[in-house]
Amino acid sequence: MSFRIGQGYDIHRLAEGRDLILGGILIPHSKGLLGHSDADVLLHAITDALLGALSLGDIGTHFPDTDPLYEGADSIELLKRSYDLVQAKGYQLVNADTTIIAERPKIKPNIIQIRERIASALDIEIEAVSVKATTGEKMGFIGREEGIAAQAIVLLEAK
Ligand code: MG
Repeated sequence: MSFRIGQGYDIHRLAEGRDLILGGILIPHSKGLLGHSDADVLLHAITDALLGALSLGDIGTHFPDTDPLYEGADSIELLKRSYDLVQAKGYQLVNADTTIIAERPKIKPNIIQIRERIASALDIEIEAVSVKATTGEKMGFIGREEGIAAQAIVLLEAK
């Protein structure tokens, strides 16, 4: 059995006048994440982990933020396309473990819905998708609510 692991990290700035999209769902909040795409920091971390597991580069190589094609892009589509690349290389996802680091809003009430969204996008069991949330304990840029970060680790196995 051949296994590969990958990790991803992403961070986006919080700004007024943007929708907060996290894990493919809209979360009501006074600010949203700023970016060329929908700035879904969690999905970007998972996408980077999937690509990284097979040394396929990163989200910026595949979907450059200088390309108008990806302006306002739905990160679920970028995630799906990256997983297509993984599957084309003969691998499938065993599980993903992720952490969102945000001072506000509280993510916990949305976690089940986020897990369902990611599992359905990748056509895997919800048990294979772990989403956790923590805060910055009011310290640093996360604590000051200037941005939200996310980390992801994935395990792939050869099909
Ligand atoms: Mg990003």
